[in-house]
Amino acid sequence: FMFDNIKSAFSAIRNVVSNDNNIDDIVEKFQITLLESDVAFEVADKISQKLRESIQEGESDVDNIILKLKTEILESFPESNSINMIEKINSKSPKPFVIMFIGMNGCGKTTTVAKTTNLLKKHGLSVVLVAGDTHRPGAIEQLLEHSENLDVKIVRQNYGADPAAVSHDGISFAKNHNVDVVIIDTAGRIQTSKNLMDELSKISRVVNPDLKIFVGDALTGNDAVSQAKTFLDATDFDGVILTKIDADVKGGSALSIAMVTQKPILYFGTGQEYDDFVEFNSDQFVSKLLNLET
Ligand code: GDP
Repeated sequence: FMFDNIKSAFSAIRNVVSNDNNIDDIVEKFQITLLESDVAFEVADKISQKLRESIQEGESDVDNIILKLKTEILESFPESNSINMIEKINSKSPKPFVIMFIGMNGCGKTTTVAKTTNLLKKHGLSVVLVAGDTHRPGAIEQLLEHSENLDVKIVRQNYGADPAAVSHDGISFAKNHNVDVVIIDTAGRIQTSKNLMDELSKISRVVNPDLKIFVGDALTGNDAVSQAKTFLDATDFDGVILTKIDADVKGGSALSIAMVTQKPILYFGTGQEYDDFVEFNSDQFVSKLLNLET
């Protein structure tokens, strides 16, 4: 079930600490369970050192130890812990507000573009989609299908077209038709990672997006973390959406990506339907991992 591995890492602390085990054993065991739950090494190390400190300071009440870990984890989250996307869009004038989505193929990017569109429509905002993945066969048709399901306009060209040019067209369309939000889907793989990063930074320079969102697949664990770093270097994205949380038994990806990139998580994708999209709340999330009531 969701996050079971990492949850059991934290609940195991209760037994080992109260049974008066050797500190090194406790800390090492805890760190290994975190690593096995897809927590990135530097993050697992940081949290386990906090556990060591708390025990060494003579804290014997396990509930207090857990609360200290919670504080430590929350303090490691990015300083600006959330982005209120709807508020940001509503306060931009003149429109359109431009959102660019980036991430590897298969991470759930196109689905996330559709979920975001659905959410914005529910908030009364009009949307135009831009088919900016002009590389992957089928990518344009896939986005077209979402645009039909969601009844929004799509701006597209043929495969091989320059995605920066397609994006520029999308923005012109939005300006001419008073559309509130332009959402740009982008490629998730071309010949080399460098070509992909060059392409994404070119789109970013040409359209100057108001929001750049990295989409990561929670199931890919440490790969998602290293991808996030690569995309961050190339695009300096603003925030993260993690997908496939519904199938994530480990639970470490979210912690790791937030801590390593220092960029806020905006939403979790929790299924294949448009409504399977939940706003991220760090306090609730960490409490859940630590089996605490909120
Ligand atoms: P893209 O290549 O990054 O555009 O990925 P797609 O949007 O095509 O998604 C790849 C697969 O992941 C599809 O089968 C989606 O239905 C599935 N998917 C996307 N988001 C989620 C999610 O939050 N949960 C689950 N279980 N599946 C998802």
